[in-house]
Amino acid sequence: MTSKTATAPHPPSSAMLAAIPSVDRVLNLGATSTLIAQYGRMPVVMATRSVLATLREEVARGDALPPDVFSEPALAARLQAALEKAAQPSLRNVFNLTGTVLHTNLGRALLPESAVAAVVSAMTQPCNLEYDLDGGSRGDRDTHVEKLLCELTGAEAATVVNNNAAAVFLALNTLGMRKEVIVSRGELVEIGGSFRVPDIMARAGCRLVEVGTTNRTHLKDYAEAITAKTALLLKVHTSNYAIQGFTASASEQALAALAHERGIPMMVDLGSGSLVDMTQLGLPKEPTPQESLNVGVDLVTFSGDKLLGGPQAGIVAGRKELIAKIKKNPLKRALRVDKMTYAALEAVLRLYRDPERITQILPTLRLLTRPLAEIERTAKKLLPAVQRMLADKAGVALKPCHSQIGSGSLPIDTLPSVCIAITPIVKGKGVGTALKKIEQAFRSLPVPVIGRIAESAFCLDLRCLEEDRVGEFAGQLEQLRL
Ligand SMILES: *Cc1c(COP(=O)(O)O)cnc(C)c1O
Repeated sequence: MTSKTATAPHPPSSAMLAAIPSVDRVLNLGATSTLIAQYGRMPVVMATRSVLATLREEVARGDALPPDVFSEPALAARLQAALEKAAQPSLRNVFNLTGTVLHTNLGRALLPESAVAAVVSAMTQPCNLEYDLDGGSRGDRDTHVEKLLCELTGAEAATVVNNNAAAVFLALNTLGMRKEVIVSRGELVEIGGSFRVPDIMARAGCRLVEVGTTNRTHLKDYAEAITAKTALLLKVHTSNYAIQGFTASASEQALAALAHERGIPMMVDLGSGSLVDMTQLGLPKEPTPQESLNVGVDLVTFSGDKLLGGPQAGIVAGRKELIAKIKKNPLKRALRVDKMTYAALEAVLRLYRDPERITQILPTLRLLTRPLAEIERTAKKLLPAVQRMLADKAGVALKPCHSQIGSGSLPIDTLPSVCIAITPIVKGKGVGTALKKIEQAFRSLPVPVIGRIAESAFCLDLRCLEEDRVGEFAGQLEQLRL
């Protein structure tokens, strides 16, 4: 940042321009050698060039600069700031206080300790990714998770690709290329802007056959649409919207029976696909892979980093001969995941073997089931610090709010939570601008804080701020600049 607050008289710009030191002079300063020792010579040379270029611009503009702007300490301070900024990674940690637990833009699921340890170990040492330790021969990378997936979902076989979009694409391409796939008009979903069922279908080389209407599709609609060219009946979980009122859809069980009667398979894209019964945890109902497979569905696809709480991945699970075909598709090679994903996924799946403890160990389920009283306690603890920082600029108070599950779960299925609501002290039209400023100030903290604007307040939903990060959060508030 440049300092524009100082009030030196403006000397003639040309004299100032002439006073700007050369790159060499700055590099030879005593303070610079310390920075070179810390950051390396090349980064310091680049930072020096950029600092001097900025100074030239400021002088040319006639900015009021402090009289000591070219002194060694002042130059070193600018250099240090430039180096720190350049050294900051692009992918950084943030505080997700948006209230959306599985926030796609903020990286979805957080991994449990055991998964992190498994990833580190797989990254730093050779591993048996595709090596059968019993036979001493080449192995299949899916073996590291396939057994667990089968045990947890009741599938006969399973395979893993880069994400659920890839899972749907690969399954469609394998089973339905140059053939027809039947889908209800009520399920032609778009997820997050870029995943659209009709588009994926076209790219997979399948001809989409739409049946029924937006609100009602019956079993007989599917039955009448099946021809010799039909490869698959597909059902898509309408994750992020609900059709309510005068509605009808065919059950998975009935569709699977129909498909089998006509000699074709039936697949369900579950989207999130929780491995536990969410209602048992007091959460909204979400279909599970085991329920679908149990009623006769041949294949299910679901995400690794939504409710499952693992790494980004797409899982296809179901009948053995269909999975075998999918694994043989050359596109599987293009969509496969690396050892880090298998390491994390295996560790996460193992946690599901102990369902009693899963809500404590798995961050996603822990955050979703976090008791309201605990969220409230965190909010109360932080309130005074936030109030102190914003004293004369905004009203700061605790407010009940609603968190969302996120990542394709229904926006209407919310979870009661508590937020720190920050209401700017301005009248009338300035509110929007003031809110944007507050939002920006929190976003500019060393660990950016991402909240949401709702009902003329900037809200920090505390569901996702767990006890172990409260200190870090409060500690950096001193640096809030409004
Ligand atoms: C989220 C979702 C997808 C896409 O899954 P990604 O893992 O994000 O690729 C596909 N279908 C449905 C129904 C979804 O909810």
